[in-house]
Amino acid sequence: MDCIFCKIVQGDIPATKVYEDDDFFGFLDIAPINKGHVLIIPKEHYETYLEMPEELSSKFGEVLHKVTKAVYDAVEPEGYNIFTNNYKIAGQEVPHLHFHIVPRFKDDGFSFVWPHQKYDDTDEMEDFKEKISKLIAE
Ligand code: 5GP
Ligand code: ZN
Repeated sequence: MDCIFCKIVQGDIPATKVYEDDDFFGFLDIAPINKGHVLIIPKEHYETYLEMPEELSSKFGEVLHKVTKAVYDAVEPEGYNIFTNNYKIAGQEVPHLHFHIVPRFKDDGFSFVWPHQKYDDTDEMEDFKEKISKLIAE
């Protein structure tokens, strides 16, 4: 598999490791938004969040919390973002699931600016709610 993050896990490409266990690997982003920007990845190759088995995603949640706290305490930023981009349209450049932990500072030049759409009416909102909550309840 010609995947840059798989190669990092295998040690074929060097990375500045901050965390490792049997299932996950955390390392400094090579081109950080701010210094201390960390990427957490599953060692197994999954393209996006939903490909990762649910059982592993609970474990992933714990690792994410632990590493985020360490980044926050070590870097002492004014804020932080945690996010993952899934598929190219959403900004994913490396097709191996990764979460970004990004320390934030005033005027650091990074921003999430997004459009704010409107639902046609409350019926349309209700339709979306129905479709989503029905699948959650299954
Ligand atoms: P994406 O746009 O896929 O959410 O983010 C990919 C991230 O991976 C980028 O922030 C980029 O700087 C980082 N990145 C890409 N290649 C490498 C690499 O070889 N080593 C490290 N440490 N980070 C990388
Ligand atoms: Zn991979």
